[in-house]
Amino acid sequence: MEQQFLRAQRMESIGTLAGGIAHDLNNVLAPILMSIDLLRLTSRDERAKEVLSTIETSARRGADMVQQILSFARGVEGRRMLINIRTIIEDVQHLVQDTFPKDIRFQAEFDADLPLFSGDHTQVHQVLLNLCVNARDAMPKGGTLRVSAASLEVDSNYASMTQDSKPGRYVMIKVTDTGVGIPQNLLERIFDPFFTTKDLGKGTGLGLSTVLAIVKSHGGFLNVYSEPGNGTTFTACFPAAEGLNEGLAETPDEKHPRGN
Ligand code: ADP
Repeated sequence: MEQQFLRAQRMESIGTLAGGIAHDLNNVLAPILMSIDLLRLTSRDERAKEVLSTIETSARRGADMVQQILSFARGVEGRRMLINIRTIIEDVQHLVQDTFPKDIRFQAEFDADLPLFSGDHTQVHQVLLNLCVNARDAMPKGGTLRVSAASLEVDSNYASMTQDSKPGRYVMIKVTDTGVGIPQNLLERIFDPFFTTKDLGKGTGLGLSTVLAIVKSHGGFLNVYSEPGNGTTFTACFPAAEGLNEGLAETPDEKHPRGN
């Protein structure tokens, strides 16, 4: 308990510090990005345009990282609505198919009787996207990225074995890759803020800590199973909204308004 409290305190200080730095960095990056647009409009020199593109790619990557840090620092207050996970997975599927390397095959699979759940659409989207981006990075030579959603009944036996779950019905989302896997000795650290094994400038180390914070703030739980050399599965479970039907999906959830 003491340890958990200290960890929460440490996370909070890291969040505050990182948020301050990210805010300042944003102020540095914004004028760079605006100037690039301006120069592109006025320049006729092809070589200069190429250089501008390089500057823009780096500045945008920096801006993406800043956004990640800011959303981590802000915490996970959100606007709750009833979510049909199928629509979010289909959105992510389009994004992945448009932007990921072509040697990564995407498969989606859904249970027919998927329950709805109460959640923040943007945050749940972010959970899936972060997990998919990690899956992509774990498959530099290509492979299969599988996202599935199913209904899960957690009984009191199962709940007593895990720290985070309570008995009840959940929407279980699995993101599986056929990538490099995670060595046993790193499994404990991957959820720590700023822990990354990626090259400098490629990862902030905030993806999984953000995923974990979002899932927890929804009353859910998160598991990881990995076989080095064969791949990894992340399982995120969100408590189902009982007694509601599909027709209500994606409408504001009055029972769980903002920040609940
Ligand atoms: P980042 O992606 O910026 O490194 P994350 O918090 O998302 O930060 O991930 C932390 C680390 O966990 C990664 O650097 C990587 O070592 C490991 N990791 C996460 N997902 C996977 C995966 N699907 N396969 C292999 N390693 C992973």
